[in-house]
Amino acid sequence: MTPEQMLDVAVDEARKGLAEGGIPIGAALFTTDGVLLGSGRNRRVQNDDPSVHGETDAFRNAGRQRDYRSTVMVTTLSPCWYCSGLVRQFNIGAVVIGEAKTFSGGHDWLAENGVKITLLEDQRCVSMMEEFIAARPELWNEDIGVAE
Ligand SMILES: [Zn+2]
Repeated sequence: MTPEQMLDVAVDEARKGLAEGGIPIGAALFTTDGVLLGSGRNRRVQNDDPSVHGETDAFRNAGRQRDYRSTVMVTTLSPCWYCSGLVRQFNIGAVVIGEAKTFSGGHDWLAENGVKITLLEDQRCVSMMEEFIAARPELWNEDIGVAE
């Protein structure tokens, strides 16, 4: 499975989130040989829970794994510090990122610490975030912790 094919799963999750009135960030956890362990999406709005990011939702939906070094976290957007911390905490070996143009989180820090980073700069992901940020700036600022 290519990184682009893995990203398709995260993009589907982001679109579901957008259709639910949420923030369009999706993620999925795969094994390095392409088995989907779990997927999820940002559900801050849907669940009234700011701790449900795409990556944490995918991580929880994947259930318990014995060893995360051979897993790949795929996310439509550069992982925030909270989700970058999750990657480090559990020693997830690789992160595939849809885009880091609209938001750049902790992926350079992850790379410096030995996590394999693949940044795709996927135009679907860029457009989805640009449109969302333009339409719902207050919700976006809430999500990234920017005070009014
Ligand atoms: Zn996050």
